[in-house]
Amino acid sequence: MKRIINFFKKLFHPVKPVIPEIIVPIDDDPIDDDPIIENPVIPVVPEIIIPIDTNVKMSKNFTLLELIKSATAEKYKISNLPNDEQIEHLKTLCTMCLQPVRDLYGLPIIVNNGFRSPELNLAMKNDGYIVSENSQHLKGEAADIRDAQIRNNKNLFDTIYKYGVFDQLIWEDGNDSYPDWVHVSCIKTGNRKEILRLKNGSTIYRKYDMVKWSS
Ligand SMILES: [Zn+2]
Repeated sequence: MKRIINFFKKLFHPVKPVIPEIIVPIDDDPIDDDPIIENPVIPVVPEIIIPIDTNVKMSKNFTLLELIKSATAEKYKISNLPNDEQIEHLKTLCTMCLQPVRDLYGLPIIVNNGFRSPELNLAMKNDGYIVSENSQHLKGEAADIRDAQIRNNKNLFDTIYKYGVFDQLIWEDGNDSYPDWVHVSCIKTGNRKEILRLKNGSTIYRKYDMVKWSS
């Protein structure tokens, strides 16, 4: 009889199965789930450097290096590398203007400054140079040149004036006898043959003859 009662007791009060306890790990810093790293280490992606052979010749007597070097660029560690289009312009400047003038002139021509990157142009402006934001130097179409002897700069200017192919020819600073340097630009087609003079900080058109300036 007792067995029968126990049987019915079990039937109506079945033993509850034991459910295993789920252990939730305790986060001991619940607020700061994604801690901010104050000085994250940024992976260094190697810079792709497109090699430019600066010793490559633009013409017989002019290398690319001569046309892109700049004391201001060196001073401020500014990269002054032209792109392919600008290099083509420099080649045109050299083959159509600088080299024929060099051949006629018979003396080395020193390039003070040729191509200018926008950064270099701005740095020169900040340093007090008179530079245009639309300067042909930015396109690789112009160079500031001189003779080793400053007094000979007039002869250089006159050689270009008389025989050269040029877009703009500028007598830069100096005095009535010779310029401190000569700015010359040249493009493939449509050269304007403009003669200008930079004096007291402004560039103006001047009638020029080889004997004397007329104002
Ligand atoms: Zn110039």
